[in-house]
Amino acid sequence: MVHNFNAGPSILPKEVFQQAAEAVLNYQNSGLSILEIGHRTSTFQAVMDEARALVKELMQLNADREVLFLHGGASTQFMQVPMNLLDDKETAAYADTGVWGLKAIKEAKLFGKVEVVCTGKESNYTIIPKDFAVPNDAKYFHITTNNTIYGSQWQKIPKTSVPLVGDMSSDIFSRVIDFNAFDLIYAGAQKNMGPAGVNLLVVNPAILGKVKRAIPSIMDYRNHIKEGSMMNTPPVFAVFVCMLTLRWLKSIGGVTAVEKLNDAKAALLYSEIDSNPLFTGTVVKEDRSKMNVCFVMNNPSLEDSFLNFTKQKNIVGIKGHRLVGGFRASLYNALPISSVEVLVQAMKEFAALQA
Ligand SMILES: *Cc1c(COP(=O)(O)O)cnc(C)c1O
Repeated sequence: MVHNFNAGPSILPKEVFQQAAEAVLNYQNSGLSILEIGHRTSTFQAVMDEARALVKELMQLNADREVLFLHGGASTQFMQVPMNLLDDKETAAYADTGVWGLKAIKEAKLFGKVEVVCTGKESNYTIIPKDFAVPNDAKYFHITTNNTIYGSQWQKIPKTSVPLVGDMSSDIFSRVIDFNAFDLIYAGAQKNMGPAGVNLLVVNPAILGKVKRAIPSIMDYRNHIKEGSMMNTPPVFAVFVCMLTLRWLKSIGGVTAVEKLNDAKAALLYSEIDSNPLFTGTVVKEDRSKMNVCFVMNNPSLEDSFLNFTKQKNIVGIKGHRLVGGFRASLYNALPISSVEVLVQAMKEFAALQA
C-alpha cells in the first residue's frame, strides 16, 4: 500500500476511484461511458443536481446560497472574483498569508484598488496575522483559509462588516466552520474534493450585479446561476468525481465526522514533530494547518537521507515546497490515519538510527 501525502492533485477515496472507473466503462449499465453522454441529458443532469445538493447539505448552507461548478482552477477565481465584485475606483481588502493570497492580490489589482490589510511576510508566513482592521468601505475581504504551501490555517474565521471571500481550495469540507459567514467561497477541486479541472463556487447572489463594467458572459457568475451551472458544457467528469467524493463524505458522517478524523491525524503527526529531537514544525502552534503539515530537520543534511528512508516505506509526496524546504505531509480527508501512523513510525525509527 502506498501512503499518499501529495499536496495536490492528491488522495481521493479508493471507492471513488473504483466507481469512477466503472462509470468510464459503462455508466449505470447503459452501455455508455459517463464521458460520452450529453451534458443536457437527464442522466448527467441528475449528477449535477446531486453534486450541488450535496454541497448545500454538507456545508449546511443558507437557502439563498448558490452552488456552481465552474471551469478552471482556483487561479481562475483570482481574477473572476474581482471582475464580478470590484469596480476600478473601489477598494478590496486582502490578507497576504502566502503564495496563493499574493497571486489573488496580483489579479485583483487588474480590476480595482487593493488594500493589503495584513501580511505574514516578515515571518516568512509562519503565522496568521492577528491584529488588523478591514476598512468599512472595502467591497469585500479576501482570505486564504488554508495556506497549502506554508502550512498555516485560519483557526478562527475573522468577523468583518464587509462581505467575506474565502479561497478554501485546500481545506474545503475538512472542518466545521460557519460557511454562511462567507459571501463567496471558491475552491479548486483537486486538493480535497475531486480531480483537477473544476472549481466549486458558493456565492450569496446578493453581492452580485453591483459592478459597472461589462463582464464577458462566461465570466459572469449571474449567467451561471441562471443556467443552473450548465451555461456551457461543464467539466462533466470532474463534476461526477466530486459528486462521488461528496457522497462518500456524507456516508462517513459528513464534515463533523471527518473533522474528528482530521484532528486526530494532525495531532498525531504534530505531536511526533514536537517530541522527536530531529524535527521542527515551521508554523507557530496556534496557526498550524491540519491539512498541510510543514516541518524541517534540525540538521538539514539529513533530509535527503530521511526522504529515502520514507520512500522505502511507500511514503510518497512529503517533500516540502521549494519555498519552505524540508517536508510537507498533506492530510486530506481521504488519507487514513494508518498512513500517518506509518510516517510517525518512520520518524521514530529514523531518530533511533541517528542516536
Ligand atoms: C492549489 C491552490 C490554488 C491553485 O489552484 P489551481 O487549481 O492550480 O489554480 C489556489 N489556492 C490554494 C489555497 C491552493 O491550495
